[in-house]
This record gives sequence, structure tokens and C-alpha cells, in this order.
Amino acid sequence: MNGKVRTRFAPSPTGFMHIGNLRTCLYAYLFAKKEKGTFILRIEDTDRERYVEGAVDLIYRTLETAGIKHDEGPDVGGNYGPYIQSQRKEMYLEYAKELVKKGGAYYCFCSKERLESLTDENGNRKYDKHCLSLSEKEVQERLSKGEKFVIRQNIPQKGESSYDDMVFGHISVKNEDMEDNILIKSDLMPTYNFANVIDDHTMGITHVIRGMEYLSSTPKYNLIYDAFGWERPKYIHLPPIMKDANRKLSKRYGDANFEDFIEKGYLPEAIVNYIALLGWSPKNNVEIMSMQELIEHFSVDGISHSPSIFDEEKMKWMNGEYIKKLTPEEFVKRSISYFERSKIKGKYDYTELAKLLITRVSLFSEIEEKVNFLEEFESYDPEWFDNKKMKCDKELSLKIIKESEKELKKLDGFDEEKLQCAVEKIAEKAEAKKGQVYLTLRLAVTGKQSTPGGGVEMCNILGKEESLKRLEFSRKLLENALKN
Ligand code: GLU
Repeated sequence: MNGKVRTRFAPSPTGFMHIGNLRTCLYAYLFAKKEKGTFILRIEDTDRERYVEGAVDLIYRTLETAGIKHDEGPDVGGNYGPYIQSQRKEMYLEYAKELVKKGGAYYCFCSKERLESLTDENGNRKYDKHCLSLSEKEVQERLSKGEKFVIRQNIPQKGESSYDDMVFGHISVKNEDMEDNILIKSDLMPTYNFANVIDDHTMGITHVIRGMEYLSSTPKYNLIYDAFGWERPKYIHLPPIMKDANRKLSKRYGDANFEDFIEKGYLPEAIVNYIALLGWSPKNNVEIMSMQELIEHFSVDGISHSPSIFDEEKMKWMNGEYIKKLTPEEFVKRSISYFERSKIKGKYDYTELAKLLITRVSLFSEIEEKVNFLEEFESYDPEWFDNKKMKCDKELSLKIIKESEKELKKLDGFDEEKLQCAVEKIAEKAEAKKGQVYLTLRLAVTGKQSTPGGGVEMCNILGKEESLKRLEFSRKLLENALKN
């Protein structure tokens, strides 16, 4: 290859971006950036039946959220545009006509009925090159009469076509096993079989990176490059990502949609890191890598031949690792919408809560459930103050609560440090251990036996007024229980 590496991601706008598509995109990006090359986004929208409104925006949005920046594309421009296939329509037809002249393709006028009659007893059908024998004159006459046509690829009947894939090695297909596929449809739109070649060539793509479903049709595409006398690109085909041992991840079943994961509270950088490792492993076996590190370590030798299984639990673990690295302020900034949809919306200091949550959630969507309890303070079983392990009982708890009310009232300013000092005093005055004070405080101000963080953290988050209100409630609850 002469010159700079150029790779592309060529999604079809079908309204969905699943993890498999995104991984293809990521690898094409990583490879280009590792080689200091150019990464291109091309929209393959020639199949109008599958086109979904808004799908192109979804593609832009997904790339942006994932931190994958294309150097050329419909939205950012470039010297090889247009980057949307439907805007390149005329060009394909021109090239197809040229290919006809070069003998690599031919016009076909066969009717639907004739094509159907070629079906064998097993339901298989292979075009019999019928129209290849039409004379040029006859073709011209039928074209000038406005007869409907398609243009088919002319595949040699003998021999083999082969190439070396950078992941799967030598791939060879017998020519007799390939069909003279349609390159230009009767609506004059190209099929994928043709457009991918014309686009990759005219966009100067040096390395074609895509799913392995194209592995065995690539020899056919190479024949088109050869017929034009063009240099073939290099190929990197990727094994599929499986849902389980038997089923591929599929957009048809709504599996593993990138935006759904974002909605569930995954950090995009964690998703990207996880999918980078689905089918590729770095030499140093490090798991947590930033985009920059992925670029540095990426190499085609690390791409596996075998399918990988998408394991959401593992991705969740990785997300938790990314969350642990956030500062409380970053945590709040990135998860604010989850706080805002919880019962504590607008109350309490989110940053203080974030300090407790950082090590306790692996997904932002877990925040809601973990903070709602703060607003769910209600009567609880006073027997819970009896704790054998901590040698605590209702009498001691009552003493602790009374002392807590006094000490907390005295506090000028309310923070964890001040509360810790108060706990020392409470323990002394109530003749209790600090552990017993923490335990009692937690139950008294939340009505819960377990919370993220202990009594001091809970009081700190609730604030002075609310803590005192709840201590008073708990004191009365205990006094009543002890009366009976
Ligand atoms: N539009 C094709 C797809 O989404 C792209 C295949 C390729 O990368 O060549 O599967």
C-alpha cells in the first residue's frame, strides 16, 4: 500500500446501533489511528426498504457519545464525498457501464418468470448467464426501447478466486460456486455488492474492516477490482459477537443496543473499553484502557478468529471500575438525571451522596433505589434496636438518642468531621461504644437496618434539621416501646 492508511465504517441507517456494529466501527477507528491514518464514515443507504428516518442522526450521536471521531463523513466533509451512497447514484451506473465494456459485467433483461424457472428441485437458483450471449447491437436496441434491465457481474466459470485476510488467512472460493450477482438494480441503484467496491476504491480505502459475513463474498468483490485494474484493499474480517453459544447478537431481536446501555447508566467509555476486548486482546493483557491506550495497544494480531460472547455482567463490572475512578463531582455531573428522577430530587447534597455511592453502584440506574430510602422514613420496628452482636439494646439506644439530640443541636455547622466529634461526646455521655452510637444513629435517622454509609454519613446527608426531627421521632417510638 502506498500512502496513508484509510479505513471506513459503513453502517446502513436501519435505526439501530448494536454492540457488534459499534465494535466494527471501533476497530476501524483504532486501526486507522494507530497507523496515524484517516477514519471515514460512509452511510450505506442504497437499500431504501430498510431505511429508517432519523437513523443517520443516531449514527452520528452514537459515534460522538462513544468518543469515536471520524475525519471524513457526511457531516464533517472531506475530499472524497459525497459520503452518503444515495448521493453517489449516478457514479455507480457510470462505473457499471465501464465494467460492462471491460467484460466484467453485462446487461440482463430476463423476466421474473424466466428467473423463477431456473429454480431447481431443492429451491436453489443460479443465474445461467443467459444474457451474456446477447450481442452488443441487441443490447443497445433493447436499451433504446427503454426495456427494464439490471447489470450483473460476469464471474469466470472456471478456476478459483482467493485473497489473504489479515485475520482469517487464505480464503479461496471456486468460481463455479459464485453467482453473477446483480450490481445495478432495475431502479438503477447499486447493490451492496457493487457499491462497496466502487466506494472503497474511490474513497481510497486501504483496509476494509467489517464483519465476517462478508468473508466469502470478498473474492467476488476482488474480481471487480481486478476487472477495473484497480489495486485491491487489504481485508480485516471480524468474528461475530454472540448472545450465547448459539445465537449471534442481532438488531432484529433488539439485542445489546448501545443507546439502551447508556440509558441504563453505563458510561460510554466503559462500554467502549468492554467491546474493544470482545474479540481482541492486547499483548499485556491489561483490561482497563482509555481510548488513547486502546489506540496505542491495538494490533491486528490480537484479533481472535473465534466468536466472542457478550457478557453483560462483565461489562457491568467494568463500568463499576470506571465509576470508582470518578470524583464525587464528576459522578454527580454524569449521573444527575438519575438523582433527578429519584424521590430525593432537589433535596440533600448530591455530592455527599455521591461519596457514598461511588463504591456502591456499578450502574447509574442503581442510584434511584439506593437514595430513595432517604425519603421513605416511616415508623419501623423498635425491636431492631436490640442488637446482640453489638451488645446494644433499647435502653442504651434511648440514652444514645437523647444525647445525640443534645449534641447535634449544639453543633454550629454540620459536616462529617463535626459529627465525628459529636459521636465521641455522645459515646462518653451515654456510656456507649462508638460502634453502638453509629448503629443506633443509623436506625434512628433512617428507619433502616442497612444503608449505604453509616449513621454519621446519614446524618450529614440529611442535615441538622431533618436529623433532629427523625431523632425525636425515634426517641418517642422507643419511649413508647419501653413503656409497654
Ligand atoms: N453496510 C454494510 C453493513 O452495515 C457494511 C459492510 C461493510 O463494511 O462493507 O453491514
